[in-house]
Amino acid sequence: MENSRVVVTGGAGFIGSHLCDQLIALGNDVVCVDNFLTGNHSNIAHLLENGTSNFMLIDHNVSEHIHVEGSVDAVFHLASPASPNDYLKFPIQTLKVGSLGTHNALGLAKEKKARFLLASTSEVYGDPQIHPQHEEYWGHVNPIGPRGVYDEAKRFSEAMTMAYHRTHGLNAHIARIFNTYGPRMRIADGRAIPAFISQAIRNKPITVFGDGKQTRSFCFITDLVDGLIKLMDSEIHEPVNLGNPSEMTILDLAEKIIALTGTDSKIQHEPLPVDDPKIRQPDIAKAKKHLAWKPAISLEKGLLATIDDFRKRLNINP
Ligand code: NAD
Ligand code: UDP
Repeated sequence: MENSRVVVTGGAGFIGSHLCDQLIALGNDVVCVDNFLTGNHSNIAHLLENGTSNFMLIDHNVSEHIHVEGSVDAVFHLASPASPNDYLKFPIQTLKVGSLGTHNALGLAKEKKARFLLASTSEVYGDPQIHPQHEEYWGHVNPIGPRGVYDEAKRFSEAMTMAYHRTHGLNAHIARIFNTYGPRMRIADGRAIPAFISQAIRNKPITVFGDGKQTRSFCFITDLVDGLIKLMDSEIHEPVNLGNPSEMTILDLAEKIIALTGTDSKIQHEPLPVDDPKIRQPDIAKAKKHLAWKPAISLEKGLLATIDDFRKRLNINP
């Protein structure tokens, strides 16, 4: 990914905007296509304000035909609501962007003879019955439950991507992204890390759902972006897990954030959402072997950077 013209759908979102930054730092021209359903102008304002010719924004819903003038070397397809709150609020948009949006993004890559990368998710494994999750596992998803709109949209998008690869020889890649966090996450997107940090720095109760014994494995944004670029540059066409294998309970996460922020907040248990996966941990053997990739940033370092960003945006001094 150097000296290329790269389209990033969902480029005004959390992961997408960091990916745009890194692609530009590597010397690429970036075309961000986003309709701001869950993204923010503030995530890309610095790129627009630069007034440089290496970043361009197309305000567009990718579930409609995507038109990009000129040559394109690579398409990163990230557009989709991603937090449980967001996809429960926008169930039909989520199904449409996973299906129609992915079809359009694949069509753009095919027309331009570009490489393609789909941002898929650990949610394709659903509430997993094997642990940790490796890429050969087919998953355990409730197709008609509330989370099904996201899980099934992503499963369809993987199927469509493999069909374009097999039928049209598209140079396609599938990243199964596990929980990722860092600066620029929406303060109220409802995901555990933004929720706990914003509650802690406002001295509000920390809302742990259920008994908090469910597990997740959190990856810092810069590590994830590095993995996405390495995967796009590779010749691996089967799905690859990208995530940090260091697993923890949600209760431990809450306690870690309480300690790092020095808050007086106390934990408050609330009902566990329907179909909330009980365990999640990536097996990253494939990424290590084929991409020479593994996460480098510790949870403590990543959380401190995220807490700092939240304090600045909320105007709260330590
Ligand atoms: P985000 O909500 O911050 O970003 C998504 C972006 O897509 C937003 O800017 C939004 O406006 C845009 N978008 C949504 N629908 C669109 C449409 N129809 N047309 C154009 N733009 C549209 O979420 P994120 O955390 O940055 O996630 C980015 C991608 O990574 C998503 O595809 C998500 O499924 C995937 N992913 C994220 C995580 C994570 O932990 N953050 C984990 C697994 C997978
Ligand atoms: N969670 C929680 N309190 C919150 C938000 C989330 O206990 O305020 C839990 C949620 O039930 C899940 C875990 O934290 O078990 C991770 O949730 P998140 O929404 O971050 O991501 P998910 O992995 O569920 O997509």
